[in-house]
Amino acid sequence: MGPPAGLSTALDCTAPQTLTPTRIVELPEQASTGPQDAIARLPHEWEQTVTSWGEPAYRGRQVFEWVHRHGVLDPAEMSNLPKALRARLAEDGVSWPLELVSSHVSDDRTNKLLVAMPDGERVETVLIPQLQDLSVVTQCVSSQVGCAMGCVFCASGVAGLKRQMSAAEIVAQVLLGRRELESDQRIRNVVFMGMGEPLHNYEALARALVLLTHPDGIDLSKRRVTVSTSGLVRQIDRLGRDFGGQVQLAVSLHAVRDEDRSAIMPINRKHGLDELMACLRRYPLSKRQRITIEYTLIKGVNDSVADANAMVSLLRGIPVKVNLIPMNPISASDLRAPDASHVTRFQERLTQRGMSVFVRKTRGDDVAAACGQLAFHGEPRRTRHTSSRG
Ligand code: SAH
Ligand code: SF4
Repeated sequence: MGPPAGLSTALDCTAPQTLTPTRIVELPEQASTGPQDAIARLPHEWEQTVTSWGEPAYRGRQVFEWVHRHGVLDPAEMSNLPKALRARLAEDGVSWPLELVSSHVSDDRTNKLLVAMPDGERVETVLIPQLQDLSVVTQCVSSQVGCAMGCVFCASGVAGLKRQMSAAEIVAQVLLGRRELESDQRIRNVVFMGMGEPLHNYEALARALVLLTHPDGIDLSKRRVTVSTSGLVRQIDRLGRDFGGQVQLAVSLHAVRDEDRSAIMPINRKHGLDELMACLRRYPLSKRQRITIEYTLIKGVNDSVADANAMVSLLRGIPVKVNLIPMNPISASDLRAPDASHVTRFQERLTQRGMSVFVRKTRGDDVAAACGQLAFHGEPRRTRHTSSRG
């Protein structure tokens, strides 16, 4: 059965996944539907495409499975499709909206992939194996080329927004990432912590989330997809409505008083801490779920014991876990992380006051792959430098 009347653009494709009440994510049809956007087509859209070519609808679902479940874009390899359809797909089908430019594996096996889009813009996506079990991988993806939010400690923010990424470009990072895994590895988590503010590109993000979690495709669990935001409150509300709070939310707090936060994160001048906290209180979390609070520790800016105490008061009553991230240095700023002993003191203070706190170990910093260090690249690099494969 198709979507209900009046909701012709609604997606009911999340229905078979769960026994809890189904959320209907309302998304507009894709603005453009050329081969480079075809990765962003949902099964019902593939059905429409192939029926317009005179094929039965179920063939459309098969194409979707080839692309998303198997990562196969070449029609010649789509072995269960009839020859005529494969020929049509070869003409009007699917093409990669981005290509791998280089891949750099760091000592801890973090793999930073630099990808280029057809207009020459480049972003990075990073494969981060779990330290305890290298076969379990978290992929950090980008959602925009640059970022408009202007946070002073962040390389993407300093660079400014160049353009939005399409849903196809966002999802293609994961399809491409999967191809770069070792044979025993799999991507279990996807975090929107690469370049860009995902909630400032909401339509593309929402479509990408539906695609990444589609049971006939990549099939990630919604709870294992994390959207990290600097605090766009209206879009946080929308995300909560559209995905029923099932998508994991991470909020970049970084300061606990309005004047401090506004000084390092311009978004705070528009949506201050009271508004942001009220928004987090109403985010529809399930019982055991918690919001991740990201807190980049910057020496002399937000790292005092008074800051830790104020954080406890600010977050009281909101189910959270706190990730402390010692700031990764960026060339455009003199701001730095505090000493390790200071980080530990800050963590202990929060722990003593009953919060659950983790210090995020910087991963991949030897190849500048750590969060907040994903930025633009100068000269094109055409070669691949992968050191982990024999
Ligand atoms: N725009 C989103 C997601 C991308 S940034 C956001 O801001 O949440 C992912 C995380 O890296 C955010 O918490 C961000 O504040 C943090 N970050 C940015 N620059 C950093 C840096 N130089 N050192 C440490 N963390 C940084
Ligand atoms: Fe944008 Fe996030 Fe960087 Fe701020 S921290 S500039 S919101 S990418």
